[in-house]
Amino acid sequence: MRVLKFGGSSLANAERFTRSADIIVSNAKQSGTAVVLSAPAGVTNHLVAVVETVSQGLDGTSHVKAIEQTFQELILQLHIQYPNLESEPLLALIHNELAQLQQLLHGVSLLKQCPDNIQARILAFGEWLSINCMLQLVRAMNFNAELIIPQQMLLADQGGYLEAQVDIDQSKQRFAQGNFELDCIYLMPGFTAANSKGETVVLGRNGSDYSAAVLAACLDAKCCEIWTDVDGVYNCDPRVVSDAFLLKSLSYPEAMELSYFGAKVLHPKTIAPIARYHIPCLIKNTFNPQGEGTLISQLSSDAEQYGVKALSSLDEMSMLTVSGPGMKGMVGMAGRVFNAMARSQVSVALITQSSCEYSISFCIYSQDKSQAQQAVAAEFDLELKNNLLEPLETIDDLAIITLVGDSMRTNKGVSARFFTALAEASVNVVAIAQGSSERSISAVIPQQRSAEALRSCHQNLFDSRQYIDVFLVGCGGVGAALLEQIEQQQQHLAQQQIKVRVCAIANSRQMLMNAKGIDLSNWREDLNQAGLQHGFSLQSAAQLVAENHVINPVIVDCTSNDAIAMQYALFLDHGFHVVTANKKANTASMAYYHQLRQSAMANRRKFLYDTNVGAGLPVIENLQNLLRAGDQLLRFNGILSGSLSYIFGLLDEGLSFSQATAQARANGFTEPDPRDDLSGMDVARKLLILARESGLDLSLDDIDVQAMLPADFDSEGDVEDFMERLKQTDGHFKDKLEKAQRDGKVLRYIGQIENGRCSVSLLEVAEDDPLHRVKDGENALAFYSRYYQPIPLVLRGYGAGTAVTAAGVFADVLRTLNWKREL
Ligand code: ADP
Ligand code: ASP
Ligand code: MG
Repeated sequence: MRVLKFGGSSLANAERFTRSADIIVSNAKQSGTAVVLSAPAGVTNHLVAVVETVSQGLDGTSHVKAIEQTFQELILQLHIQYPNLESEPLLALIHNELAQLQQLLHGVSLLKQCPDNIQARILAFGEWLSINCMLQLVRAMNFNAELIIPQQMLLADQGGYLEAQVDIDQSKQRFAQGNFELDCIYLMPGFTAANSKGETVVLGRNGSDYSAAVLAACLDAKCCEIWTDVDGVYNCDPRVVSDAFLLKSLSYPEAMELSYFGAKVLHPKTIAPIARYHIPCLIKNTFNPQGEGTLISQLSSDAEQYGVKALSSLDEMSMLTVSGPGMKGMVGMAGRVFNAMARSQVSVALITQSSCEYSISFCIYSQDKSQAQQAVAAEFDLELKNNLLEPLETIDDLAIITLVGDSMRTNKGVSARFFTALAEASVNVVAIAQGSSERSISAVIPQQRSAEALRSCHQNLFDSRQYIDVFLVGCGGVGAALLEQIEQQQQHLAQQQIKVRVCAIANSRQMLMNAKGIDLSNWREDLNQAGLQHGFSLQSAAQLVAENHVINPVIVDCTSNDAIAMQYALFLDHGFHVVTANKKANTASMAYYHQLRQSAMANRRKFLYDTNVGAGLPVIENLQNLLRAGDQLLRFNGILSGSLSYIFGLLDEGLSFSQATAQARANGFTEPDPRDDLSGMDVARKLLILARESGLDLSLDDIDVQAMLPADFDSEGDVEDFMERLKQTDGHFKDKLEKAQRDGKVLRYIGQIENGRCSVSLLEVAEDDPLHRVKDGENALAFYSRYYQPIPLVLRGYGAGTAVTAAGVFADVLRTLNWKREL
């Protein structure tokens, strides 16, 4: 004998109903078959809703109408396909049954409340109507079929009317007296049983799975098949994690743990009966009967990573905490909590006790909250009155995320990975618990983050790919070059299991967004046509992240905009990493400078700005590494401007200052207005960033920027006029250069840090100085430190240009992943 159970999703309409019937009859041709059915999807929800509505004195007709329509439509359609189906008596049965339902509801409306025994009778209607339809359909298909009435066969005295538990030994005896023919299909409504008074009880929402397991145990079935709308049990809820994968097999304890902690595909009570009688259980898809499904049995054979088999989540939980000085050394506190819950019939999903015995926290379903609170208050009444305990604390809107796997206990580092994944998704962990079997680890988290948490854990534990979601602000030279580099590198990164998706591109006027990743071959046109007629909007970006549960979002600032820079702290607080080529944030007030680092730390996000100094040259990270390892910056000398490096290099070759500046401008080395370079402010900003990095508490005003142009030179007005007038300075620079050359020196525009002070000035540089030969647009940075002296650590190379800067930004973007897989 095999038991086949079809869930509501497999019975939702006539087409699905006949699919299920086809599976039943084809099974019946090969072996004895018993069937358990749910109500068609949605019917039990209507029954629950009608009880609630009518109990409040409101009109519940629409719910009953909806149920009636579901069945009428079902029967009409079935009749079209199977004209010999006895639709008239079936329609009459439905009509009569619904009339009885109305009568019960009338009673409820008079009472303005619904006692549990009546509610159980009402909730069982869906299954009863459903099984009668299947009985007629199977008969219309010319198969012999009979009903099993669960109220007569399944005895359930425990668990009350609504969460009843079947006494399998007693029920088995009843079945033993029956005579079950192999050529007859036996059909039993799920979800339903009766107590010893013969009153109808129900087995808890989703309880038809349990009915099937009980029936399989009672009939000594060879197999229990649960037919549903997915291919089997996945390692994670496939609705939440799209790349969840199908599990071939699960052990009974694994399945029990998974269903207990929220995998809806199986009701938690299903496993005990089949495990007790060693009945294999197959989860199969009604819409893909050829699929192998998932086998639940003694042993599981799937290969596992880290011993973790699957992940699940339970939503709508509340956590109660009993705490206080009176708990220290008090014996049996946990027992008293459990007893109080058992007495009030509240099931406890998870419990943790702090090791100092100062508090006990436990999670329950939110719907049981007030019952639980009352029960705890009553149990600890004396202690509470005497202030031995603090007032009971309750936290709502929680979810429990659980990792399940038989061999987790023999694998090290699983919990570390689990909690790293939660941290990475910026999920706050409220409490943790490990099952004593070490078959599961659970974390209690805020419910609104449960999808992100599941995705992040799935990615860390099962998926070797890592994702970065880029939100680019500013798509001028550097931004555009970055997009080009990201596009070019995709394949190479894919080999390293890294996927960079560009989810947003914004300029000052428009913003283009796509959660699945923007097509980078055509972004300019798409951006021009983008619907969002504003520049970058944090609100839109945050909404995209929230709606799509993006877990590694990075805002990349390739502008030089002040307003964007002043929002970084907000970006970090919203869970974005920030990567920037823009120097404005790091040179704003010292308070903001600290705030950014604190926000990054508090939100476990990265704030990266390696291109702020020396563009693509690896300056900041190297300096940070040195300082972290105990080095100390004693002195710094550097050529920090590519344009000025170019200009003074040309002076060495005999060009005049105005010629050199014009040539630098023509070659695109300077800003469109070269005065932005010549003012020295850009160099001052870079120097300030280095100074702050090495621990100095300075601001831009503290930097001594010595004017490069002679004091009496008029540098106002139009750019072209300025360039023309610049010839007047040629003599000044010629004199300076000749003076330097007399001592074998050259002129270089240099930023210096020494004795806690910063200056930017035009200096004479001797031949033995590492900066002497630096020209042609190169940057060079000489760090004299405790470890590096008298010969300094010199970083040298092109420190400007869109391609190298974009590559530096790209490297920072990839660095957001750095801390992930180091465990
Ligand atoms: P039925 O109507 O057949 O009883 P349910 O809706 O009760 O179906 O259960 C099937 C659903 O369980 C699937 O559609 C899926 O969304 C959900 N589910 C949650 N976790 C898992 C998991 N780990 N594996 C498979 N399905 C899961
Ligand atoms: N019909 C019941 C419910 O929706 C039982 C079941 O489908 O398993 O909860
Ligand atoms: Mg179900």
